[in-house]
Amino acid sequence: MFRKTYYLHSYGCQMNIADSGILSAAMEKAGYSPVADPAGAGVIILNTCSVREKAEERALGRLSELVKYKRGKETYVCAIGCMAQRMGQDLADKIPGVDFILGTEQLFDLPTLLDRRNGAPVVETAMGVDLEWAEFPPEPDNPYAAFVTITRGCNNYCAYCIVPYLRGPERHRKPEAIIKDINHLTGKGVLDITLVGQNVNSYQHEAATFPKLIKKVIDETGVERIRFITSHPKDLSYELIDLFATEPRLMGHLHLPLQSGSDLILEKMFRRYTAAHFGQLVDKLRQARPGIALTTDLIVGFPGESEDDYKMTLDAVKEVRFDAAFMFRYSVRSGTWAAKNLVDDIPEEQKLKRLQNLIDLQKEISFEVNQKEVGRVSKVLVDGTSRRDEQVWKGKTGGNKTVLLESDQDLLGQIVPVRILRADSWTLHGEVAS
Ligand code: SF4
Repeated sequence: MFRKTYYLHSYGCQMNIADSGILSAAMEKAGYSPVADPAGAGVIILNTCSVREKAEERALGRLSELVKYKRGKETYVCAIGCMAQRMGQDLADKIPGVDFILGTEQLFDLPTLLDRRNGAPVVETAMGVDLEWAEFPPEPDNPYAAFVTITRGCNNYCAYCIVPYLRGPERHRKPEAIIKDINHLTGKGVLDITLVGQNVNSYQHEAATFPKLIKKVIDETGVERIRFITSHPKDLSYELIDLFATEPRLMGHLHLPLQSGSDLILEKMFRRYTAAHFGQLVDKLRQARPGIALTTDLIVGFPGESEDDYKMTLDAVKEVRFDAAFMFRYSVRSGTWAAKNLVDDIPEEQKLKRLQNLIDLQKEISFEVNQKEVGRVSKVLVDGTSRRDEQVWKGKTGGNKTVLLESDQDLLGQIVPVRILRADSWTLHGEVAS
């Protein structure tokens, strides 16, 4: 007998987690209950990522495992999101047993499509759908911190990036729909909201720009903590930076992808800013909110990256002293501008060496930056326990740093003052401050 239960697992970025929250709400409205084990699910859903070939390999591997849970016609296996969008029918051919392949703009239709299924795999990947998808206010992935999508798609076409081809052009949600989602989530106890989009800084709905949207969220919702991701440096306005000075509910953390410290490489990547402009933004941010935590993304070994270009990235990292960074070596992503037009000319060995040096440098900087937290009291939202030790609470500072703390009190879901006792490169350790 078909069970009206669903198992949903997400790979990839915050956009995927936010999409999964909306889909969960849609599934539950259609009468499906969530289960944590695919063995107990009538509908098994994998929300996929396509940003790198490795991410796709992982998703394909997981999908091959998930089809083994099929019990004849009583279980549906669904691949949704970016990899489903990119592969379409090829995915159905590659992994027999997948019943639904729904792209980035069809995934919310899954509950309706489940009712209409007639046997053959359903493949839906059309783009350009009108997206006022917020009919289902999202289910939070975490009961205390949640993502709310404000834009979908991207118009930037950075040379190395597949996202605009998979998520289509930028579309911006109505401010009222965003406020409604946030009020829905805070009503469920969520304290920390991250506004998400591929490039939130370019948000524009009629007269509402991104800084105006943030003001509206502050004025019209009771959410305690507000964050946003991802910011493109070319669109980060001074008006937005000023909010860090005036709005304490806007948390002191910004993820600002630099990608390279070389203007030549930035130009080849079509990033449309210079390293000097990035440095000016960092100065302004630190004036507006002293101590703001800055994190970034960096790519080494982009086509044509000379030793000098690479050193400029190291210099930029030394200059800015990011709190943390996601660091990658360039790999060709088929379908992108770079894959079609540039020669991947940096030997793998050299890319790996550059990456390792960069990781070592950033690790040292992260360690030093985190030592400044020792002795300070930070407000920490406790959202769970340590993966290694369930007796140890885990939470996040306003600067988005993970804090582990021991306490006999039940701290779950509370924002508590924590004195930081020690720090390593990635984690702070503390105790509740009296
Ligand atoms: S801004 Fe560039 S890197 Fe970010 S999603 Fe758009 S194309 Fe990709």
